[in-house]
Amino acid sequence: MGMDGASWDALHLLMASDRLPALAGMVSEGCRARLDNHGQGYSPAIWTSMATGVPPEEHGIDFFTTWAWRNPFSGRLRYAHWARAFRFRGSHQLLRALGFRRVAVSSAQRRRPALWNLLTAQGRSVGVANWWATYPAEAVRGALVSDHANSYVQRLRRDLRTVDLQPHQSDLLPSLTCPESLFSHLWQPARMGDRELLELVSRFAHLSEDQQDRLRRVEVFARGDELSVLKFSLLQDLFTIRATRTIITEYGQPDLIALVLGGLDAMSHYFWRFLFPEHFSPIDPAEMAVWGDALPEYYAFYDEALAELRALFSDPTIVIVVSDHGIVPVLPEGSLGPNSGTHDDGPDGVWLAAGPGIAGGRDAGRISMVDVAPTVLHMLGLPVPRDLSGRVATELFEKPGQVRYEDSDLDGTPPSDPGGPLDEGTEDEVASRLRALGYID
Ligand SMILES: [Zn+2]
Repeated sequence: MGMDGASWDALHLLMASDRLPALAGMVSEGCRARLDNHGQGYSPAIWTSMATGVPPEEHGIDFFTTWAWRNPFSGRLRYAHWARAFRFRGSHQLLRALGFRRVAVSSAQRRRPALWNLLTAQGRSVGVANWWATYPAEAVRGALVSDHANSYVQRLRRDLRTVDLQPHQSDLLPSLTCPESLFSHLWQPARMGDRELLELVSRFAHLSEDQQDRLRRVEVFARGDELSVLKFSLLQDLFTIRATRTIITEYGQPDLIALVLGGLDAMSHYFWRFLFPEHFSPIDPAEMAVWGDALPEYYAFYDEALAELRALFSDPTIVIVVSDHGIVPVLPEGSLGPNSGTHDDGPDGVWLAAGPGIAGGRDAGRISMVDVAPTVLHMLGLPVPRDLSGRVATELFEKPGQVRYEDSDLDGTPPSDPGGPLDEGTEDEVASRLRALGYID
């Protein structure tokens, strides 16, 4: 279970006041460590390193976006990664004028197999939900909900102007999920009325009537707009939790479930100063009254999701909680924009494991992001491809057992076109979120 931006500082603070029973239980029952992301600050790069067992130089995903160019004659969209080298003033306008498009990183850009490819090749089953850079959804044994599925639902919700309309089959973007029929299970429960939304939000923020009204009307994740950050982080995470639940109920418990909850990162960027006010100049008490519970409750919401998903597993199951990076206060505070928390230099993330065979109550120090994939393979009793740079984190286990290695025979050559018809509305939805967090301009 991935919690984007989960930070040990926040966990320690909130566990001390008994607000995170499931996570605190994992700490005492299992093994904890800091996740070393090699100083990386970009989420897609880190999550892909965890899933592949190799660093960004090898798997090829090192940022949120890249460039593509549509050939006007053939109509085909081709990657033009080299265009990223253009970084002078006005270069983006120039590239756009020449027909280039900035596109989100995608699974087609990944040069190395991820855990779900490796397991599928070994005849094992997976359930993947909202892992970074998984659109277009690859063919897996089991089910995969790509990271664009949620953005697509949000876009439809906005474009259709009503939550009651069913999207036409022709509106559906292929490759959002594997199998494609899975998407129809996800759209219906994603609808939510105004009253339900306000009720959900009330635990995170104590809003005035005016703010409640604005929350209802806010349509996109917008830079500087706290209400939009809360609304769309929450909708995104509820979607991912539902998707995971649906995978388990529709397809049964697979050998590996891998999900990333992404909202906590955005919430931490915007609300860090309310959790650690001592790092900042005095905060207006009226603002604190509105937003003071935002992060504590968001962590508690994740804690509940962890407990709920764990309860769905019928067999004894190893649970791993990881985050890509921690959060540090934005300093100097004089230049404080909408963001008060940041992770530009890749502060350590979280590594927690508990379950059968995992050492109890142990602090394992620091474990690299590239160790996640080999460690998971070993837990499943599978051989570890020799060409991974990560190692099996044997310090997590009571008795680690013999690690088996094998030569990997999966072809890691990515296609040269981005695959799947990239949909401009959904790309815009993804871009608005990246812009709100300051990752792209
Ligand atoms: Zn972030």
